[in-house]
Amino acid sequence: MTTYSDLYLFIDGERIQGGGRREIPVMNPSTEEVLGHVPAASQDDLERALAAAQRGFEVWRKVSAYERAKILRRAAELLRERKEEIAHLMTLEQGKTLPESRMEVGNLPDILDWDADEGRRIYGRIIPSRAAGQRQLVVREPIGPVATFTPWNYPGLIPLRKVSSVLAAGCSCIIKPAEETAATTLAVLQVFEEAGLPPGVLNIVFGVPDEISTYLIASPIIRAVSFTGSTSVGKHLSEMAARGIKKCVMELGGHAPCIVFDDVRDPYKIAEGAALRKYRNGGQGCVNPSRYFVHEAIFDQFVNRFTEVAANIVVGDGFAAGSKMGPLAHARRLDAMQEIADDSRTHGAHIVAGGKRVGKRGYFWEPTVVTHAPNEALLMREEPFGPAVVINPFSTFEEAVSQANNTVYGLSAYAFTESGSRAIAIADALEVGMVGINTYALGAPDAIGAPETPFGGVKESGYGSEGGTEGLLEYMTVKLISQF
Ligand code: NAD
Repeated sequence: MTTYSDLYLFIDGERIQGGGRREIPVMNPSTEEVLGHVPAASQDDLERALAAAQRGFEVWRKVSAYERAKILRRAAELLRERKEEIAHLMTLEQGKTLPESRMEVGNLPDILDWDADEGRRIYGRIIPSRAAGQRQLVVREPIGPVATFTPWNYPGLIPLRKVSSVLAAGCSCIIKPAEETAATTLAVLQVFEEAGLPPGVLNIVFGVPDEISTYLIASPIIRAVSFTGSTSVGKHLSEMAARGIKKCVMELGGHAPCIVFDDVRDPYKIAEGAALRKYRNGGQGCVNPSRYFVHEAIFDQFVNRFTEVAANIVVGDGFAAGSKMGPLAHARRLDAMQEIADDSRTHGAHIVAGGKRVGKRGYFWEPTVVTHAPNEALLMREEPFGPAVVINPFSTFEEAVSQANNTVYGLSAYAFTESGSRAIAIADALEVGMVGINTYALGAPDAIGAPETPFGGVKESGYGSEGGTEGLLEYMTVKLISQF
């Protein structure tokens, strides 16, 4: 099991530490204590990782999908056995509450099992030809070595989901997970080695994010780039990838609208559920609802209950029994929350709950509710990626749709209504990649998506899918074979 004293790079099947490499501290966001240090990859390390990924690809692409599936399934079993240890690591370095960590880790094996099977079902096509004696086959092939970059908010789910699809598709991978949550991601990904994945197929590096992505994406060895993180970094990586005509999967920011119509049976209950959902993972989730548009007839009732629930959420160390929301993952998020609160006040919005830091140690921020924010306010324009939500009233369907779509983001959206025709109309009108109607569950109820459903956005929230058959096909190319 990974400990903080042995954080390492994993290249060509070898664990690498020390050797005079720069070291990056990993912090506990609840206490601001340094837990350990992760080594930063040098250029030589990256060169080795690229060569290993190239060799690994040549080996792995020839392993049958049937044999690959066995390795993925063994990895899934190991994750099942280690759920508790990994969940503890996650709470320690990411901050989320232990039940949240358990839920995240608990979902991982299922992703591997599903991809193991789906990898065996990637079929081709036979297209009838125009000429006698000709066969036209369409086959899918693994795209090649993939460079992936993952964030700290779901340090188990996001790296595992990417790596699982990449491996099931028959590709090799170099992943640069977030340094902030290095131990968790190492603990999750280390199961592949133990499950029998050949050396070089999966390589893990840490370091200065921009240095690593610039170096890897420029290499001709890398054939695809998969990133989850902010829209601004996604644009930067996409530009670099475009220079080498490399395929990208971009899972970027979101600023999910949630529309609550006046025909809902119990606005009070929906407000309760909404408040609990919003502050999951400290609000640091790209699909967490963050802009509420509530019909004016039920607006006050909704806001009162939402605020009541938000104000009663116990904020504290993720290990403490009563904690319902942990700290933000790092100090930069605290600064971002402060900027949102200050800007909301400047724009005349009402902060009806929260709006300030909790205590002086640890990156804790109060669950914050803002109402009546004008369109120019920061909170209306940029994703908060933290425990802040805006709730504004609307009067007509058209107004709600126009407000919901008035953003560069297009990841997820939610709507609550008892009317079947309105449910269809709103699902069609929202410019997003995922819509929840009368639910926040995009896939499995207690997970961020489900292995079998595609997860992804439109507009500046990115392109491509994670999960589902679509997620696997991202890492495959199409080849036509015409044969006489
Ligand atoms: P950030 O953009 O600095 O970092 C986000 C992630 O991207 C980190 O894991 C980081 O290591 C990585 N990253 C940053 N620059 C990179 C580069 N040049 N090459 C490769 N990887 C790079 O922001 P932050 O302050 O850590 O997080 C806040 C912002 O990140 C939020 O505004 C949110 O939009 C975004 N974010 C999004 C998700 C998501 O699930 N879509 C997850 C985490 C963070």
